[in-house]
Amino acid sequence: MTTLYPATTNIGKFAEFKIAAHAEGVEIDKLPGIDEMPEPIEDASTFMGNAEIKARAYSRLAPGLLVLADDSGLEVDALGGDPGVHSARFADRLGFEPNAGYKDIRNNLCVLSLLAALPNPSRSARFVCTLVIARDGEILLRSNGTVEGQLLDKPRGASGFGYDPLFLIPSLGLTLAEISKEQKGQLSHRGNAFRSLLAQLHNAHF
Ligand code: IMP
Repeated sequence: MTTLYPATTNIGKFAEFKIAAHAEGVEIDKLPGIDEMPEPIEDASTFMGNAEIKARAYSRLAPGLLVLADDSGLEVDALGGDPGVHSARFADRLGFEPNAGYKDIRNNLCVLSLLAALPNPSRSARFVCTLVIARDGEILLRSNGTVEGQLLDKPRGASGFGYDPLFLIPSLGLTLAEISKEQKGQLSHRGNAFRSLLAQLHNAHF
């Protein structure tokens, strides 16, 4: 069975990869030594650019392994696509106050406060995920996935991570923080990108 090694220390993302991989007959394992590996600077202006930076850097440090790198984030139409590639540290980047407290909660409050300052803003948004597989510094496969939704004006739900409590899936009437990890994997940007990547992986010879 093929084993992929995610280049992430985000526990939420790792768990989602594991569930999605299990459903597709692929093994996910912790990248040996990742906790000690220096984090590369993600300074590209696109999700793909940043995923490639991570994939090249981590795969050079783990010879012979198939390293799975991802970059993902939230695009809010009324904010011109922000937070986008800055999703992880959006509140810090904008100097949003208070500057103490849990990062995900501050990021959510920051997005809500920007929307609240606009007259009658559109609530449409999407999550985007880009995935790349690399080995020994060489990019082997790439994929993208998205999920469309609407931003609530208050968080709802306690599962998931990041902006999940704000992100309503209109067809379910539930946020991504109100559904199980398995259900999220079936419809999420990460699940969609992952399935597309595995379809390529099954046909690949390398
Ligand atoms: P990355 O580690 O640079 O890809 O950071 C992605 C950031 O985008 C995360 O820290 C979250 O803030 C946000 N994000 C990405 N995917 C999700 C998701 O599935 N749910 C909620 N937030 C997400």
